[in-house]
Amino acid sequence: MKTLIVSVVTPDGPVMEDSYEMVSLKAENGELGILPGHIPLVAPLTIGAVRLKGPEQTNRLAVNGGFVEVRPDKVTILAQSAEKPSDIDVERARKAKERAERRLQTKQDDIDFRRAEHALRRAINRLDVIENS
Ligand code: ATP
Repeated sequence: MKTLIVSVVTPDGPVMEDSYEMVSLKAENGELGILPGHIPLVAPLTIGAVRLKGPEQTNRLAVNGGFVEVRPDKVTILAQSAEKPSDIDVERARKAKERAERRLQTKQDDIDFRRAEHALRRAINRLDVIENS
């Protein structure tokens, strides 16, 4: 089975680099499945899980925004934030989810509402990644 190198970098530094058979991620205009030999492209990412399929298991990362650069032999993810399940603090994510839900229930301007919506999506994404790992 052919593989491609996947490298994930955030403003805090590198998160991981390894070889995988397939990468699935959530670009702004839809889910993207990348196999070795994929045509080169750059796409903006949204809040979502990155699924990394290896020969024995599939690893997941919780990714929040940024860009993916695809080359035939390498996928580079430059994300605002990216966490492996083992690095996700569940309690923190639960609290962030509750906080965002509370904010969404109170009346506020559009910007604050959108900010709370994004915070809610980030928290749910982190909790989903943990649950599916
Ligand atoms: P919080 O309100 O808990 O800070 P957030 O969604 O606003 O959550 P981000 O702005 O997405 O946080 O991320 C800021 C930094 O904190 C990033 O480095 C991110 O990886 C880290 N981070 C955020 N939430 C968690 C979590 N639950 N577990 C581990 N790291 C987290």
